[in-house]
Amino acid sequence: MINRIALLTSGGDAPGMNAAVRAVVRTASSCNIEVIGVRRGFAGLIEGDSRTLGPRDVANIIQRGGTILLSARSKDFLSREGRARAAENLHLWDVDGLVIIGGDGSFHGGQRLLDEFSIPVIGIPGTIDNDLFGSDFTIGYDTAVETALSAIDKLRDTAASHERIFVVEVMGRNAGFIALDVAVAGGAEEVLIPEAPVPIDSVIETVQESLRKGKTSSIIVVAEGVDGGALQVRQAIEQATGHEVRATILGHIQRGGTPTAADRILASRLGEAAVKALVEGRSGVMVGIVNGNVHHTALPLTWERRKEVNPHLYACAKTLSI
Ligand code: ATP
Repeated sequence: MINRIALLTSGGDAPGMNAAVRAVVRTASSCNIEVIGVRRGFAGLIEGDSRTLGPRDVANIIQRGGTILLSARSKDFLSREGRARAAENLHLWDVDGLVIIGGDGSFHGGQRLLDEFSIPVIGIPGTIDNDLFGSDFTIGYDTAVETALSAIDKLRDTAASHERIFVVEVMGRNAGFIALDVAVAGGAEEVLIPEAPVPIDSVIETVQESLRKGKTSSIIVVAEGVDGGALQVRQAIEQATGHEVRATILGHIQRGGTPTAADRILASRLGEAAVKALVEGRSGVMVGIVNGNVHHTALPLTWERRKEVNPHLYACAKTLSI
């Protein structure tokens, strides 16, 4: 029987986290479960920084980026002593489970709480990187793609007007999901992702070929996980071609902003699914959506198994860039 749960957001913020917070609180309320909202992720859990959240406390947040619960990266939580203090608070609050909205680091932390202190834990995938196995998409990813794409569209105007080559670095940690999507949607001439390393000579050859074909401007999308990033790619192309090349690192603008409809719907479904999973007696799993249906994946599998980028989409990006 679940009477009270704790809820936190952890790691990098992602648009749609608030929609997930709202969904957890309102689903819990409909099941007569009380929700303790923990501020600043595991850091707040260690300090006992929390307050009860009811349905009215999560009004008017579905459309807001960031997280009203605040997020943090906690060094203290990496030690057993830190986690013991967190577990003590959870016992003090008399909660029957913990819902964690975050990425793989946060799920590592959750698994530790389960293994070491037998605290039932459910994960909700909240990260723009889309790098968690067990859900086709993570909360925040769709919004981040839209944000990066609109920036690339703007850079394309300048690249075309000034007949320049732009190297644009997008986020994604060690994964190329954002890069590949925006490369196809933004009509990029080349895309570099960690999953498919390309020698720099081959990138230079692509640019030279573009110039020979009469292209006066080019956009090259680089995922942040690629060795050397946009700056090294820029330097290599400039040296080899003698053309002026601009590098733009989009950075944190990709993490904020109003969540897209897709992210709000995903977050709403997963928030609901997380509470239901606890009620069903599940623990140590992440809720995700696979082929349109709710799936439960053991937390360790979410980071041990690598989610692959779509090879057909990668091939498509290459075909269409001629
Ligand atoms: P994002 O993908 O957006 O960066 P994340 O959840 O992967 O999100 P991290 O900074 O990696 O973000 O992890 C969040 C927090 O989880 C860390 O600050 C730390 O407190 C905790 N954590 C990470 N790894 C571990 C681990 N191996 N054991 C215990 N706790 C961990």
